[in-house]
Amino acid sequence: MYETVIGLEVHFELATETKLFCGCENRFAAAPNTLCCPTCLGLPGSLPVLNKRAVEYALMAGLALNCDISERIVFDRKNYFYADMPNGYQVSQFYCPLCLNGKLTFFHNGKTKTVGIREIHLEDDAGKLIHGDGVTKIDYNRAGVPLIEVVTDPDMNSAEETVAFLEALRLTMLYLGVSDCKMQEGSMRVDVNLSVHKIGEPLGTRTEMKNLNSFKAVAHAINCEEKRQREIIEKGGAVYQETRRFDDLKGVSYVMRNKEQAEDYRFFPDSNLPAVSVEKSLLDEIKLSLPELPETKKRLYISDFGLSDTDAEILVADKCVAEFFEKTAAFCGNRREAANRIIRDVMGEINLRQISLSESCLTPEKLGRIIALCENGEVSRKISREIMSVAFGENIDIDRYVDENGLSQITDPDIIKSAVEKVILDNPKAVADFKNGKKQVFGNLVGLTMKELCGRGEPKIINKIVEEMLKMS
Ligand code: ADP
Ligand code: ZN
Ligand code: MG
Repeated sequence: MYETVIGLEVHFELATETKLFCGCENRFAAAPNTLCCPTCLGLPGSLPVLNKRAVEYALMAGLALNCDISERIVFDRKNYFYADMPNGYQVSQFYCPLCLNGKLTFFHNGKTKTVGIREIHLEDDAGKLIHGDGVTKIDYNRAGVPLIEVVTDPDMNSAEETVAFLEALRLTMLYLGVSDCKMQEGSMRVDVNLSVHKIGEPLGTRTEMKNLNSFKAVAHAINCEEKRQREIIEKGGAVYQETRRFDDLKGVSYVMRNKEQAEDYRFFPDSNLPAVSVEKSLLDEIKLSLPELPETKKRLYISDFGLSDTDAEILVADKCVAEFFEKTAAFCGNRREAANRIIRDVMGEINLRQISLSESCLTPEKLGRIIALCENGEVSRKISREIMSVAFGENIDIDRYVDENGLSQITDPDIIKSAVEKVILDNPKAVADFKNGKKQVFGNLVGLTMKELCGRGEPKIINKIVEEMLKMS
């Protein structure tokens, strides 16, 4: 029996206004080389100034992932020659990462799984090389953009589990607001380390796969690499420690380079960046400001609110939706009903109209009021749904809308009685059939009465009165 072992290195570009060591704007898709200055171009005489917001974001990520936080922030130079780094080195944290020994616990397939976070460090991003037509163009807009690299322990064992972890990690970063996590724009990038070994034997040699720009590509790469390594081992061959590039279309990976060793980078402390201490007061402040995290919310929704795993997952998957849900539940006092309405009806509107909840006119107060009106029997369920649909698109006052359009439910027995009388008079054949034992006619008579009341009659009262009046007639 073979076992697959997976550890990840995940980069997030931080959503700061400016770069890590200069005042240049941190923005995607600007015209090439328009967001650069002497510092991020590595020109002589320039000096870096550390971006405080980037440090705060990295600390937020570290605290959210339960890490120990270093008392000092120190940077090292990772030296290599490649044109994407104008300095000839990347500024990173090799000897003393900002955050160590964390973990992320997430709920997946009805079970709880914990993945160790070995470290999180801060570093700057490289520029982009654009190859083509025998020339390589360089865009340094991205050079110097702040990154955090999250390194996990080798704690995952399948593609499915890895993707579930990545989803939980991504959602955590989105809730914190530290990165926009757009894989297609490179603001979240995943490297997969994978080895295969026989259960009971030591871990195998790992390969590292880069160039994975969607969770689907991550899963595909894992499945292919797992198979490739197993076949090598079964044939008695050896897996080499190397970096491979995965081609998602062909489902094949190629050797990019042999794994470099740390020595190859000649790490040494960056003499331009003095050590900065992490003030306890700053840490305390950040701890207090952390939002409730998605995995905490999900557990709360399942165990305290009584929602199903799937419903909890759907609501938590978008921070705005989760907040909308909690507020709506508070307004109407019925969490399950609030969840149902949002998942079945409101999300239906979102998909239908292709606009987000925040762009719609619906507010938690309004949805809460609609739910309350329905629960109090003041409007029917069907009509309450229609009101929601209107309130999604237009700014209406719910109570006034109900009044002005005469939508309130009819519960007055006298009004219902006269409607039933009319139906019975107009349908002598149906009444006769009912008396002759054709009981299914009952439903037709109820339906006709509802129609007579323009769909606004209270169904239970209609049922009761139809029954009574059939007995009498
Ligand atoms: P290096 O120092 O060579 O970069 P690390 O020990 O820092 O290696 O690990 C890098 C990544 O590789 C981590 O995400 C870790 O979980 C993963 N990893 C380490 N050993 C293995 C292994 N045997 N199989 C799969 N992944 C591994
Ligand atoms: Zn700059
Ligand atoms: Mg490493």
